[in-house]
Amino acid sequence: MELRICHLYPDVLNLYGDRGNVLTMKKRLEWRGIGCTVTELPIGERQPLSKFDLLFVGGGQDFEQGLLLDDLRSGKGEDIKAAVADGLTFLCICGGYQLMGRYYETHTGEKFSFLGALDLYTVGAAERMIGNFAFETEFGTVVGFENHSGRTYLGEGVRPLGKVIRGCGNNGADGTEGARYLNCFCTYSHGPVLPKNPGLCDGILLSALSRKYGCAALEPLGDMSEREAHDSVLRSITGPGE
Ligand code: GLN
Repeated sequence: MELRICHLYPDVLNLYGDRGNVLTMKKRLEWRGIGCTVTELPIGERQPLSKFDLLFVGGGQDFEQGLLLDDLRSGKGEDIKAAVADGLTFLCICGGYQLMGRYYETHTGEKFSFLGALDLYTVGAAERMIGNFAFETEFGTVVGFENHSGRTYLGEGVRPLGKVIRGCGNNGADGTEGARYLNCFCTYSHGPVLPKNPGLCDGILLSALSRKYGCAALEPLGDMSEREAHDSVLRSITGPGE
C-alpha cells in the first residue's frame, strides 16, 4: 500500500510548524510498512489532483492568503473544489481552512472570494483568538494552538470537527471547532496538530486508505511519547483535575 500526499502551497502557507503534519503522516505510514510520497505544489505549478490520495494545506496570515488569489483563479481553485467533491482526503489548517470556504472578510473590510469547496465563511475581528486550546472529536480529545482573527461559521451539510473544551475554536461563540465535509478535515489547530494527536492523524490516514484500498483499520502503534505530549498540553490547558 502507498499514499501519495500533495503539500499545497508549502511556499506560503506554513505557520507554527504546520509542515510537521506532513512529516507525521509520512512517519506513521512508514512505521506500519505503508509507502508514502510527498509532492510539493507551490504557486505557479498545477498538476492533476486525482493522482494524489491526500492533500495538505497549512495556515497563513491574511497577507499570504491574499497572495494566493491569482493562483487559485488560474484553474487550481477549480481543481481543489472538484477534488473535495470527489471525496479526496484533505487536511486544512487555519488560513488553509478558511480558504476552503466561500469567502473571508478581513477585519479591515477587505473581502477575499475563496473556493467554496465547503459551505462556510469567515469574518475577521480586531481582537485575535490566541492560545492553547482543546476540543473533543470522534478521534478523542485534540490539543493545539490557535491564533486567528477570523470567525468561521459553518453552513448546512458541513459538520464541526469537534466541540470546544477550552479556547475559542471556530468563532468563540457557538462552541464548535473546525469542519468536516466528506473526507475534508479542517481545523484551527497549529502546533503542528498531528504529532501530539495520533488518533486524529490515524483517522485522516484511514480515510485516505479506505478510499483507495478499502482498508478498514490501522495497526496500532505504541504512541508513548505522543500520548505524553498530548497529556501534558491538555493538563496545561485544563488544569490537573480534569
Ligand atoms: N489570516 C487568518 C486569520 O487571522 C488565518 C491565520 C492563521 O492561519 N493562523 O484569521
